[in-house]
Amino acid sequence: TKLAGEWKQDDNGKWTHSSVEFNKFNPERPLVLDTVLDAIGKTPLVKLQHIPKKHGVNCNVYVKCEYLNAGGSTKDRIAQRMIEIAEKTGKPGKLVPGVTVIEPTSGNTGIGLSLASAVKGYKCIIVMPKKMSKEKALAMESLGSTIIRTPNEAGFDSPHSHIGVSLRLRSEIQDSVILDQYCNPGNPLAHYEQTAEEIVYDMGDKNIDLVVLTAGTGGTVTGISRKIHEKVPGVKVLGVDPHGSILAGPNETDIEFYEVEGIGYDFLPGTLDTKVVDDWAKSHDKESFLMARELISTEGILCGGSAGCAVHYALEECKKLNLPDTANVVVLLPDGIRNYLTKFLDESWMNERHFLDA
Ligand code: PMP
Repeated sequence: TKLAGEWKQDDNGKWTHSSVEFNKFNPERPLVLDTVLDAIGKTPLVKLQHIPKKHGVNCNVYVKCEYLNAGGSTKDRIAQRMIEIAEKTGKPGKLVPGVTVIEPTSGNTGIGLSLASAVKGYKCIIVMPKKMSKEKALAMESLGSTIIRTPNEAGFDSPHSHIGVSLRLRSEIQDSVILDQYCNPGNPLAHYEQTAEEIVYDMGDKNIDLVVLTAGTGGTVTGISRKIHEKVPGVKVLGVDPHGSILAGPNETDIEFYEVEGIGYDFLPGTLDTKVVDDWAKSHDKESFLMARELISTEGILCGGSAGCAVHYALEECKKLNLPDTANVVVLLPDGIRNYLTKFLDESWMNERHFLDA
């Protein structure tokens, strides 16, 4: 997929985009909100108290709790931004009440779009591979969306994949639009102009040495990396991509099944700019889920599987770089426990997959 419009960098390292207007960052947090959509963004950074030391890491590790967004994930931000762009510009299609929003997703963008559609009066059809949790589907159904499941094995270019089925539905349904998180500039832009600004603002005068982000569409890592490199000289951005996905390098691994939801792909989305990612770690399911369970049980951080993944490989990187105890590390936790109650939270689910140590 090709990104609509073009990102350009000036001589001072600042990024602009050819076709999207930028929102100004406003750090104020109003106490009373007009709609629940105003409870998207401005999520807290929390310092981990126990886990880093337990794993032999002495530097300060801060986690950005994106599960505290209104719909429960960081993808609420991009859903809201893509809708706002379509409402204002008519791109990639006109949005007025009654129009059907169709989106292929691993679920969290679907929840964000379902939430916004419920509030704004759009119809919503979400197309999602079978692998993704029942909890996500139920959340979207309760918001009034229609959910269609596709086979996990269908490659991105198959007519049976979540992308293929979405394209067919758009051609069949009048007044429908795919906002297309894989190439919509609003995806990385939401993180460039909002998530990354929040991190820089909230860290105040503390330096940031390392930022660790998982990648699916790559919108998070691309948007945050662009802004953080503009504002924090010398920072390192590490992307995390599961074994079985090609995002970290097309020839690095074969496409194979993994359980962590929302990360990795069998194609390179237009929203991922690998040039702005400093380095990659390749992740495994077991380590990711064990760390997610540890974040919940020892820090009270009610996060999802990709969050555990990001924290595990962040700690590995701290050790590899031998970061001093004065160093500050920021890790983004994309979603929360609600999406996985019958999956990695359930011991029998973990045992069936040999993810729990005896
Ligand atoms: N973790 C989870 C749980 C997600 O749903 C997503 C979104 N696909 C990501 C990580 C990765 O975010 P991005 O699409 O911005 O790369």
